[in-house]
Amino acid sequence: MIIVLKPDATEAQIDGIRAELARMGLEIRDIQLEGAHILGLIGDTSALSAEALTRFEFVERAVKVSEPYKLAGRRFHPDDSVVETSGGRKIGGGNFAVMAGPCSVESEDQILSIARDVKLSGADFLRGGAFKPRSSPYSFQGLGLDGLELLKIAREKTGLPIVTEIMSQEYADIFGRDADIIQIGARNMQNFPLLRDVGGLGRPVLLKRGPSCSIDELLMAADYILMEGKSQVILCERGIRTFETATRNTLDLSAVPALKKRSHLPVIVDPSHGTGYWDLVFPMAIAAAAAGADGLMIEVHNYPEKALCDGQQSITPVLFDKLMRQLRKLREALREG
Ligand code: PEP
Ligand code: MN
Repeated sequence: MIIVLKPDATEAQIDGIRAELARMGLEIRDIQLEGAHILGLIGDTSALSAEALTRFEFVERAVKVSEPYKLAGRRFHPDDSVVETSGGRKIGGGNFAVMAGPCSVESEDQILSIARDVKLSGADFLRGGAFKPRSSPYSFQGLGLDGLELLKIAREKTGLPIVTEIMSQEYADIFGRDADIIQIGARNMQNFPLLRDVGGLGRPVLLKRGPSCSIDELLMAADYILMEGKSQVILCERGIRTFETATRNTLDLSAVPALKKRSHLPVIVDPSHGTGYWDLVFPMAIAAAAAGADGLMIEVHNYPEKALCDGQQSITPVLFDKLMRQLRKLREALREG
């Protein structure tokens, strides 16, 4: 952080703030630049607020120069993290993972049929919501714990590890035991007590970007999970809210390289929620892989027209199979290049 002092700051005021900062364990460097007196602070300034410092009448401006996140950042962790899930599957550091399945678990037949199809096409994980964060309280809310049981049956029958969303701290222990990857949905990205609770479970966490959240906010949310010191994190770009109405959200694919520049965590993309239309999913999935994503989350339904949730953005198993074949070709071409 740097603190720019006003030209009329007195010696007594400067000595006072110097002593205060030194008590906080910070090293202070004096910089004289274009007639301005600047204090450069070295050390952990995370507890200092730049805004609060400007309340001192002798402070012109205070600016943080380091990132507002630490554990998710590359500064102290330059190498890509590889997230390892139960069943020995890896995500990140060159390991590409595809998570596919319906928006919601609806019945045993439905989840088993989709799980078998996506497995045959080469998916690495089965996704499916048991607890659904629906905008309307009158929409299907998911099967709850019964849905989780059906996902476990599908895992047992196909061998696919499961990714499913937690919505309440109340079920933390159950998710910690039963889910292979715990999803934090976009709406809960800044539910800080929930983030801390899942961070203590020791299961990989898939953290979706909030629809109105910046990249810095996503990485700070990841720090809440990582701070607990037990769980690994996978970041997920799933579209943000903009003025555009032709798509459900605006899929920010530039977030992939932007996140990778700042963070060592794996980054996956969800083109289903990111676009909201099934016919946009295929091209944006390919584009995400080309942009350097470490994986994809794709909604697949065997009868999209009858789906209880997000049928309009779900692709059929046949189209998913075609997508997987194209992805393999693309990844091979990228490796050759
Ligand atoms: C989902 O994955 O089903 C979901 C609800 O996603 P998001 O939180 O990104 O809206
Ligand atoms: Mn959905």
